[in-house]
Amino acid sequence: MFLNTLKKTGGAIFLAALVLLVSIPAAADDFKIGTERIKSGSLFSGYLDVPEKDGLSTRIPYTVIHGAKKGPVLVLVAGVHAYEYPPILALYRMRDAIDPKALKGTVLIVHIANLPSFKRRTIYFGPDDWKNLNRVFPGDPQGTMSQRIAAVLNEEVVKRADVLLDMHCGDGNEALIPYSYWMISGNKKLDAKSRDLALAFGLPYLIIDETRGRDPKDSKYLGNTAILQGKPAVTTEAGYLGLTDEESIARNVQGAWNVLRHLEMVPGEPAPAVDPVWIDKYEVVNSKWDGLWAPKVEMGYYVKQGQVIGTVTDYLGAWKEDVKAPFSGILLYVIGTPPCNAGEPLFEVGRIKEK
Ligand SMILES: [Zn+2]
Repeated sequence: MFLNTLKKTGGAIFLAALVLLVSIPAAADDFKIGTERIKSGSLFSGYLDVPEKDGLSTRIPYTVIHGAKKGPVLVLVAGVHAYEYPPILALYRMRDAIDPKALKGTVLIVHIANLPSFKRRTIYFGPDDWKNLNRVFPGDPQGTMSQRIAAVLNEEVVKRADVLLDMHCGDGNEALIPYSYWMISGNKKLDAKSRDLALAFGLPYLIIDETRGRDPKDSKYLGNTAILQGKPAVTTEAGYLGLTDEESIARNVQGAWNVLRHLEMVPGEPAPAVDPVWIDKYEVVNSKWDGLWAPKVEMGYYVKQGQVIGTVTDYLGAWKEDVKAPFSGILLYVIGTPPCNAGEPLFEVGRIKEK
């Protein structure tokens, strides 16, 4: 009798617990980053510290929007190149617009990955070591400033990601049309996910990029670092010449929302690019000279193999070279300001994939 009652009560309690479990939507666990623990359904902004070395330190401003419901961790990174402003400005708008109570999953925003470069207004390179942050991943915690920033981004950001967008644009000197790099890893399943991500972001040109290295210890690029850890990732480029034009900011905002919808973290359908142009080969043409660059063709124009894209002169005004397109295609970007240095880009041509 006693045992029966216990069984009955136990059963009732078990049933009640089951009903309770079913009726409460799954709340996500705390999100951990740095020394913080962020509660589900809340937003937190703070800094990741980059350890001091040789008297130099910095920090990385970020926001976590930790949704009330469980879902993927989407990482959005701006400012790896910190003279690329539209993605930076777009992600502050995203911070203000995403409602943690309605969000499924977690959005981790890195607002300005390379703060030393932002403060000193440098293109390409960090001002402390003159290294390109997007060539030193996965970084080195004992290395120079750029290498230490990369190491913190890898440990605290990439490793927490399920999906990553590395958001760039034309640097302060680059006139660039909007495109995304679809980085191929050779893993078909992963590559299909990255492809869908690139399509969802919605930029009109998509580069099929098979040039990235496969060594996780020398991943070089932030996006490639994520991919080599098995996470779908895309590098996006929308904006140019250090401008803060509304059209470019809006493209980045729209792209981020599209990806949130694509991952079903917020309701609604993404608006992918209509009939995007696929680029199956690209080449960045570098200068052989220090001097001055004068482009003759604007970004987005179709060029023929051998066509002169611009001219280099030396510091005394003497002609050095007419620089030509290596093959026919579209001018994805062209340097739009006079300084040119040996070994640095002048323009990028992309070959249109035949349908
Ligand atoms: Zn960049």
